[in-house]
Amino acid sequence: MTLSIEDHGKLDEFWAYCVKNQYFNIGYPESADFDYTILERFLRFSLNNCGDWSEYCNYLLNSFSFEKEVMEYFANLFAIPFEESWGYVTNGGTEGNMFGCYLAREIFPEGTLYFSGDTHYSVSKIARLLRMKAKAIKSKPDGEIDYDNLISSISLDGEKNPIIFANIGTTLKGAVDDISIIQERLSQAGIERDNYYIHADAALSGMILPFTDNPQPFSFADGVDSISVSGHKMIGSPIPCGVVVAKQRHVSLITSRVDYILADDKTISGSRNGHTPLMMWTAMRSHSFSDWRNRITRCLDLAQHAVDCFRQKGINAWRHRNSITVVFPKPSDALCKKHCLAASGDIAHLITTGHHHDTHKIDTLISDIVAEICHHQTSDVQDKIESTSNHSWAGTAF
Ligand SMILES: *Cc1c(COP(=O)(O)O)cnc(C)c1O
Repeated sequence: MTLSIEDHGKLDEFWAYCVKNQYFNIGYPESADFDYTILERFLRFSLNNCGDWSEYCNYLLNSFSFEKEVMEYFANLFAIPFEESWGYVTNGGTEGNMFGCYLAREIFPEGTLYFSGDTHYSVSKIARLLRMKAKAIKSKPDGEIDYDNLISSISLDGEKNPIIFANIGTTLKGAVDDISIIQERLSQAGIERDNYYIHADAALSGMILPFTDNPQPFSFADGVDSISVSGHKMIGSPIPCGVVVAKQRHVSLITSRVDYILADDKTISGSRNGHTPLMMWTAMRSHSFSDWRNRITRCLDLAQHAVDCFRQKGINAWRHRNSITVVFPKPSDALCKKHCLAASGDIAHLITTGHHHDTHKIDTLISDIVAEICHHQTSDVQDKIESTSNHSWAGTAF
């Protein structure tokens, strides 16, 4: 097996491209400051974690013992006794969300899935794949679910077994749906705890909130039934992955025995990545609680720095408490492209993930935006002579 000289050249070119762009990202939640070089030697093995890590599997090249320790770590982080939990290393946040919804649907086959309008786009795909009744609930301008609308929809639907898809940090605005309020309101509406299900989509913030002083409710102790977090976001990973944790007693409902692999099949995919559990394990073993805490404090401070700088320039930027997502009025398409910003409607965001050690990228972005606004304001004055049209750059205040 050899590659042609041209193909070598193509790979070399791609290598140089990756090295150059390694830390490009300010608009997406991926951290790039990981180091798994210690694991490179395992790339020669076809690792496969097909099935349940807690059981014997006769496919010998598995990393189950590492996956088990990853799951112990996250059970602890999300406040559920390890023996009462079950979960696995997924291909990403979406698969974890699907797993949570799948469990919920098995428990409440007729239950309706409720989620806010700010929920990640994958939720509608999941609802369709699982053929669940699903309903989008209004969200408030800051991205948090509208609790009144949620409860009145549930009542109007006469839904006895609501399945709540709660955002623990929305993609665009970093908003957290308050699962304490949701539970209180469900209880007031006469729906008892055993009659509803709460899945927490904590793709980004699942690895932030546990390390903050005053977290919004997010854990099993706070009332979730399952939670999904992405591995390639706050933690960082060269291969997309994630972790999902659920309650063991719920998982036993979906378990089926497969003779062929001599293991129980509970996961959504059959063959599963055996390398990503090694990565998550290495990340957990090489960072102490206070390492994570320091890293996350630094990210939060940087986010606040960005908010302060924007505001000093008269631009209405903001962020939620405990969020590294900074929301600001969307600049021109050209600037979004230049800084690789994700935008939606009239807002854009930047996310101060782990590899942003200094303020350089943020400062450059802000000065580019300021320059653009000044330019537009000058042309606005000229515009006004001819028409009454105006540009609003201030955005909506929350
Ligand atoms: C990124 C994200 C997801 C999807 O996670 P993937 O790891 O990309 O599958 C789901 N929900 C939220 C809130 C996200 O930000």
